[in-house]
Amino acid sequence: MMNIEQEYLDAEALLEGHFLLASGNHSKRYLQSAKVLEDPKRAELICNALAKMINESGIQIDTVCAPALGGVLAGYELARALGVRSIFVEKKEGGMELRRGFKVQKGENILICEDIITTGGSAMKAAQAIEALGANVIAFASLANRGFCKREGSSLEAKAECKLSSKVPFFALDDFTFEMYHPDECPMCKSGSKAIKPGSKA
Ligand code: ZN
Repeated sequence: MMNIEQEYLDAEALLEGHFLLASGNHSKRYLQSAKVLEDPKRAELICNALAKMINESGIQIDTVCAPALGGVLAGYELARALGVRSIFVEKKEGGMELRRGFKVQKGENILICEDIITTGGSAMKAAQAIEALGANVIAFASLANRGFCKREGSSLEAKAECKLSSKVPFFALDDFTFEMYHPDECPMCKSGSKAIKPGSKA
């Protein structure tokens, strides 16, 4: 049984501190998913566990598609574990698009893979780009779910912020729910510490 939280801890990918999240809220914890995929052996073990869950559900995936940049490593490794091809979409004004000669067929069954699903905004933009080309988005997957959306097998219900379509199954290895604070109500700010912005720039 894969303990994804332990994998994040072992990879020093689950950071403790005082963080300013993309949403504008503050948090004591932050997931730096690129670090959990830094060791290809660990990435392989994690994505094998995720692929097993998807295979056991009985759905048949033709292709994994990831929103760049965050989803690309997880998507590639999951595609390898599922034995299917791997493509990615990239940001454009207002959405995402396939570039670099990647193509999808009408009726092709696509799984959208992210590293972490928070509200699922990027995953939905990727899904819209794929569906506009006539392919079917039949599942979403991520290494872990931040607790806004409902993953298969979890008792945690979707919150209003979740953007994923509820008609399509969402597979993830666990729920990572962290306390988040509005800056005006953040206990760490009140005790005089200053939130730092983690993520892709540091
Ligand atoms: Zn704060």
